[in-house]
Amino acid sequence: MDRETLRCDRQSFLERAGLGIAAGAFALPSIAGIAEAAGVGPPPMAADAKAGLARLMAGNARFVAGHPICPPLTQRRAALAHGQSPYAIVLSCSDSRVPVETVFDEEPGNIFGVRIAGNFLDDNGIGSIEYSVAVLKSTLVVVMGHSECGAVKAAVENVKSGAMPPGHIAGLVRAIEPAARASKGHAGDWLHDAIVQNVRDNVAALPHRSAIVAEAVHGGKLRVVGALYDLASGRVALL
Ligand SMILES: [Zn+2]
Repeated sequence: MDRETLRCDRQSFLERAGLGIAAGAFALPSIAGIAEAAGVGPPPMAADAKAGLARLMAGNARFVAGHPICPPLTQRRAALAHGQSPYAIVLSCSDSRVPVETVFDEEPGNIFGVRIAGNFLDDNGIGSIEYSVAVLKSTLVVVMGHSECGAVKAAVENVKSGAMPPGHIAGLVRAIEPAARASKGHAGDWLHDAIVQNVRDNVAALPHRSAIVAEAVHGGKLRVVGALYDLASGRVALL
């Protein structure tokens, strides 16, 4: 792909997201159609990234203390039937021990969840994040790893011994392997360091891999943060 084609692709992306400048010669479908299809949700529960992060962390503190206040899931069901306005996007692991809404004591409709074993970015995950940023106007992305992550453990094992799991599981290992390799030989625990490195790598990569995210971040409309969930305590720590 040459430089001009790349430039055009980026421009068309931004235009579709309503984030670019005038459409000019690139008469492409507007994001308005997608937004219309998404419906109209209730107002977001947090006005901006700062308020959103504070809300998530307060919810996690309630979860850790064992005093959740999240109302029954049925309460907002009707209000959400015609649209959603999630203030936060959380990219987290598929691990069954990391139930995102529960961890943040949050109701449905507030967190746009993207889950994959090892909580790393792939094209479809980025597409999901872009949808929530451009269409649903989310203002916060949290990339959240967790202690004792099996996917990261497999990547560390791969660096240690070359062992590669079968089937498509190998794809997960290959995606996390750079973080496992980068944290090799550090003073601390290799698995913990690789989990943290994997989160940091994906936080840093997101704006580089997504023009929509980059534009929103640079425009002050979006913040991307890393976090670590501790399975034993239930506590989320920002990285
Ligand atoms: Zn995991």
